[in-house]
Amino acid sequence: MCIFCKIVNKEIPNNTVHESEHFLAFHDLYPKAPIHILIIPKTHVDCFQDVTPETMAGLTEFAQEVATKVGIDESGYRLITNNGPDGGQEVFHLHFHLLGGGKLTWDHSHEDPHKSL
Ligand code: 5GP
Ligand code: ZN
Repeated sequence: MCIFCKIVNKEIPNNTVHESEHFLAFHDLYPKAPIHILIIPKTHVDCFQDVTPETMAGLTEFAQEVATKVGIDESGYRLITNNGPDGGQEVFHLHFHLLGGGKLTWDHSHEDPHKSL
């Protein structure tokens, strides 16, 4: 069972922000912004590439609720998912990072395709 499924099953403790029948939002263990929340479907899906539009419809509404609940719906936020190896995905249970609580920087970095090995 994956680490986020264990969090859903309460085998690993988490700092829950918001919960519904199908989704869970909890604080990231290593926050990269003043507010850094992970939003996941309770049913295991590996990554964004595998998720159904139906699940995304529910997740959209849930993410909006989370942003409102933590008070960043007006100030703004970033909602991102890392998909696959090049996307930097480390946990293979679909999750969206909700980042906010301060002015976020935008990093355009990527491995230089012209760099010699
Ligand atoms: P990824 O790199 O897959 O997009 O993001 C995985 C995220 O999960 C990282 O931001 C990491 O800090 C977070 N994370 C990894 N393990 C745990 C954990 O056990 N609990 C919580 N709350 N966050 C975790
Ligand atoms: Zn899982």
